[in-house]
Amino acid sequence: MDTSAVRSSPLAPDWLAVPEDLNALQDPMWAAGVERNDAGEVAIDGIPVSELKAQFGTPLFVMSESDFRSRARAFKDAFDAAFADICGGVDVYYAGKSFLCTAVASWVADEGLRLDTCSGGELAVAARAGIPGAKLGLHGNNKSDAEINRALDMELGRIVVDSLDELDRVAKIASSRGETAKVMLRLTPGVHAHTHEFIATAHEDQKFGLSMAGDSTAEAGLSAAEEAVAAATSYAGIELLGLHCHIGSQIFEPDGFELAAEKLLAFQAAMQEKYSIVMPELDLGGGYGIAYTPVDTPRPAAEIAEAMAAVVRSTCARLGIKSPRISIEPGRAIVGSTTFTLYEVGTLKTVRVDAEADAGAGENVTYPRRYVSVDGGMSDNARPVLYDADYSAILASRSSAAEPQLSRVVGKHCESGDIVVRDVYLPADVAAGDLLAVPGTGAYCWALSSNYNYLARPGVVAVRDGAARLIVRGETEEDLLNRDMGVANV
Ligand SMILES: *Cc1c(COP(=O)(O)O)cnc(C)c1O
Repeated sequence: MDTSAVRSSPLAPDWLAVPEDLNALQDPMWAAGVERNDAGEVAIDGIPVSELKAQFGTPLFVMSESDFRSRARAFKDAFDAAFADICGGVDVYYAGKSFLCTAVASWVADEGLRLDTCSGGELAVAARAGIPGAKLGLHGNNKSDAEINRALDMELGRIVVDSLDELDRVAKIASSRGETAKVMLRLTPGVHAHTHEFIATAHEDQKFGLSMAGDSTAEAGLSAAEEAVAAATSYAGIELLGLHCHIGSQIFEPDGFELAAEKLLAFQAAMQEKYSIVMPELDLGGGYGIAYTPVDTPRPAAEIAEAMAAVVRSTCARLGIKSPRISIEPGRAIVGSTTFTLYEVGTLKTVRVDAEADAGAGENVTYPRRYVSVDGGMSDNARPVLYDADYSAILASRSSAAEPQLSRVVGKHCESGDIVVRDVYLPADVAAGDLLAVPGTGAYCWALSSNYNYLARPGVVAVRDGAARLIVRGETEEDLLNRDMGVANV
């Protein structure tokens, strides 16, 4: 139906428009291959959501394998092309923390990418997937000795060292093994990218990284970053590959990346000169944004790659240094849009709310907000609670000609903040038993999932060539009780 005449709700945020067509799947929130079929049902690679529900149940993470592979390849190809004449291409490390299982790790390797991990558990997944250590990186601000040893056992391509303290520990452990650890130093360049802007601060007040600001440590005049470079070059157990930074997440504009690259390259040039060393690599981190709602406008990988390449090229020329081999670490931008979460609708209710924002409305004017409860919630998507993140949703099991109604999609947890989609227009006839799909749930949803209220964590289905298969099965009630030692031990 034509909804353009429908007035938006005064309860809706300014950015949320009444969609022209409630049945349309709006770009670029959805994976390639997700469409509404002739019967009006949302389908992925031709498989209707009702079939996925019948086979695998809900809630369910539904992922397009081909979309994942093509986004991974797109990053690799775009950065390789942009940096070809600067440093012969780029090493792309998929940030495993966004979503990792053995299937995904193997796709990453197939497509010519490497893998970033940040714990012994993630290293275990990589090992089970058969990824060679040379293709792996290890992050973390508090790596245990066991994790450092495991990284050395697996002959990791790089350990990204986060502090002076840790540099010392890695050096000692490597030396005691008679080995050399390949190390990058994570610096905090004082550039913080936020969704639509970036801010620059001189001093860093956060747990990650070595500060580039001077006089920040006991050694007067030296920044923590420089102290680390000096120490790394003197330790027998350390091979210093280069510098690293990660300025934030869900970033749309390239200017924050450009500024960070400039600052790190200037520091690199100064250190190479002062300590007569060459650092062959430079990692500029991840954080590239995706579309969670229709108003998010992510840049194509090629555009960001070209902007960053231009800065690296000109900065290296100005500093008179050879460009190090560049690497990046996208997570969300590869996996986020490959996946939607499928939920079944249960309870519905409508409340009437004062709209303070509606100035002309006078007193006692209220507007309806409908609560649509689904069979999951903050246990399968913690981002709205953790970060106030916005999502979108669509009626997936059928099309509807009903009017748009401002709705709030909520979970089934015992928590009033358990919101999946804060504000969305859904057809007024949405009813119990309907299926909703929430796009953009590939990153940091399954990864952050919990068993709150003893809900079983959902499985992940991957679709390829018109066939769906589980890559992570959903939990059962037995799984939920598995670690409980039982009344016999009371
Ligand atoms: C989280 C993280 C990433 C990935 O961030 P995305 O926003 O998913 O691209 C990359 N590098 C480091 C060090 C991170 O902590």
